[in-house]
Amino acid sequence: MIGFALDMDGTVYHGERPIPGAREFISRLNAEGIPFRFITNNSSHPKRFYADRLKRMGFEITEEHVLTSTIATIRFIAENRPGKSVYVLATPDVTEEIRSAGIPAPKEGEVPDIVLLTFDTTIAYDGLNDAYHYIQKGAELIATHPDDVCPTEDGYDVDIGPFIRLFESLTKKEATVVGKPNRLMLDMAALEMGVPADSVVMVGDRLSTDIRMAVDAGIGAVGGDRQGPPGGIRNRAHFRQGIRRGDSSGGDCPYSVCVRLKC
Ligand SMILES: [Mg+2]
Repeated sequence: MIGFALDMDGTVYHGERPIPGAREFISRLNAEGIPFRFITNNSSHPKRFYADRLKRMGFEITEEHVLTSTIATIRFIAENRPGKSVYVLATPDVTEEIRSAGIPAPKEGEVPDIVLLTFDTTIAYDGLNDAYHYIQKGAELIATHPDDVCPTEDGYDVDIGPFIRLFESLTKKEATVVGKPNRLMLDMAALEMGVPADSVVMVGDRLSTDIRMAVDAGIGAVGGDRQGPPGGIRNRAHFRQGIRRGDSSGGDCPYSVCVRLKC
């Protein structure tokens, strides 16, 4: 039995617009009883938000089909840093998701054990500055994912990569990054689907995360449908070349999910 791990942004939708063929592909997986998970690095909303968005667009899915880098990071902290206090840079909804999962906040006036950086679209100076001081005083920096930009309907928005580098540069400490290309999300998705990790096929649009993870894990990879930015993947030959080289330097690829799966 194989299972599919599908990226979301730029792979099955752009913003609120589904990518042609993506819903039909999910219907086909459902009809044939093939397990799948959407695995997204995007940690700007809780898991429920993405499930609702996919359902609104007509994807036949339930909330259990979605695995975000926030959920992966919550599990990572619970298993590897149990009981540690965590200062969170996140949107209010994601902060609630993290706290309701039992991740403890630091006590008043206490330096947290961990500073957790998510894709906080409400980020402000005070939060950045507090996080900087906490890391300086010994807190570990954990980030949900490494992406520099996030694809939108109109182009790209600033993601959290630049903030990770900001903290690393100021504190000379290296962040622990949980999301793709770290294979933790692949292993979690495989476990949830009940298939071996090496039987998972990754469908994604970004070489440096989706395809990098697949190449490192030695699993199948399919490029998503995205017109890449300058410096991104140019065509199929370039994509194949990138996979062969394990190239992680590129951006997104313009490769059609459905074309590839039919051929
Ligand atoms: Mg993507």
